[in-house]
Amino acid sequence: MNTYGWILLTALVVVTLLEVGVALLSLLRAPQSIPEFFQDSITQEEFSKSQAYVAAQTRLDIFSHIYNLILLLAFWMLSGFPLLDQWVKGIVEGQLVQGLVFLFALMALNYVFNLPLELYRTFVLEEKFGLNRTTWQTYLADMAKGMGLVMVLGIPLLAAILSFFNWAGELAWLACWAFSVGMISLLQYVSPRWILPLFLKFSPLEEGELRQAILGYAEEINFPVGEISVVDGSRRSSKANAFFSGFGKNRRIALFDTLVEKLTPDEMVGVVAHEVGHDRHKHLIKGMISAMIHMGVMFWLLSLFLTQQGFFQAFFVEQPSVYVGLALFSLFFTPLDLLISLLFKAISRHYEREADQFAITSTKKPLALANALKKLAITNLSQLTPHPWQVTLHYSHPPVGERIGLILANSAKE
Ligand SMILES: [Zn+2]
Repeated sequence: MNTYGWILLTALVVVTLLEVGVALLSLLRAPQSIPEFFQDSITQEEFSKSQAYVAAQTRLDIFSHIYNLILLLAFWMLSGFPLLDQWVKGIVEGQLVQGLVFLFALMALNYVFNLPLELYRTFVLEEKFGLNRTTWQTYLADMAKGMGLVMVLGIPLLAAILSFFNWAGELAWLACWAFSVGMISLLQYVSPRWILPLFLKFSPLEEGELRQAILGYAEEINFPVGEISVVDGSRRSSKANAFFSGFGKNRRIALFDTLVEKLTPDEMVGVVAHEVGHDRHKHLIKGMISAMIHMGVMFWLLSLFLTQQGFFQAFFVEQPSVYVGLALFSLFFTPLDLLISLLFKAISRHYEREADQFAITSTKKPLALANALKKLAITNLSQLTPHPWQVTLHYSHPPVGERIGLILANSAKE
C-alpha cells in the first residue's frame, strides 16, 4: 500500500474513533436525574424510558461505526475494488454501462450488509420502546419506492457525471456542477408534488379551532399560508414533526397527525410560527445555496483526484477509470465531509435559534412554544441534555433545554 492508502486508512480510523469515543462519552456521562426545566412535565418513568432509548440507540450507533469500518477495510484489503471491476467488465460492454453497473453493485453491497442493522433498529429497538408503528407491508413498500427513486434519479445523475468526466475534458467538473444544480432545483418543484406523496398521505386540516388559530396567526403576521395539510406520520412511527415544503404557490405546511393529537391549538401555532421563522429568514434558500457550493467544491476536488494514479494504486486498481475513481473518491471525501458537516450543523443550529426567536416575538405566547417543545421531546424520547460533543458532531437543532432556556429568558424580559 502507498502513502495515499496510509493517509486514508489513518483518516478512516480516526473518524471512527472520534464517533465511537463521543458516543461512549455520552453513554458514560448520561444525566441520572431529570433536568430542572423538565421537573414538572415528565415523570420519573418517562425519563428513565427516554434515557434507556437514547442509550440503546447510542450502543447501536457504536456497533454500526465499527462494523462498517471492518467491512470497508476487508473489502479494500481483499482487493474488492479491482475484483468487482473485473467482474463488471466480464458481463457488460462500454465505459458508461460498466460504470453504472459497478457503482450500483457497490451501493447494493453496502445496502445488503447494512440491512440487518436497519431492520433491527426499526423492528426491535424502536418496537421495544413503543415508537415503531410500521408494518412489514409498509416497510417493504417504502423500500421498493425508495429503490425506484434511486434508479430514476441516480441513473441520469451518475450517467451525466461519468459522461462529463469521460468526454468533457478540463471543464467536466463545471458541467457536473451545472447539471446537479439543475437537478436540485428541479427536485424542489417535483418533490412536494410527486415524491413526498409517495410516502405520506396529505389531507387538508379539517375546519375547527386548530385551523382557525393557525389562519388567525397567519393573517396577523401577513403570511400567505397556502395549504395546511395533515400527514399520516402515525403509519410509521409515533414520533411527531412538522415541516414546510416547496416555494411560492407550491408552499405547504404539513403537520404530522401525531403532532395534531398531542398539541393544543396555541402550542401548534408556536410550532407553525417556528416554521414561518425559517421561511422569513430564507433558511430553505440559504440551505440550498450552501448545498450547491458544497457540490461545486466536491466536483472540483473529484477532478483533481481522478488525475492521480497513486489513489488508484492505493486500492490495488491497475486500470484507472472514472467510475472506479468516483467510488474511491467518495471514500476519501468521507473524513473531509465530516469537517464540512460540523460547519453545516453549526449553521443549522443557528437557523433553528433564529426560527425560535421569530416564533417567540411573533406569537406573543412564548410559553406555548416551550410547552410544545417539551411535549415533542417527551413523545420522541429525545435526549434532554446531550453531551456537548454529541451536539457539535450530530445535532441539527440545539438541545431542547437550550431552546426552552431561550424562550424563558425572552418571556422574563416582558
Ligand atoms: Zn426548525
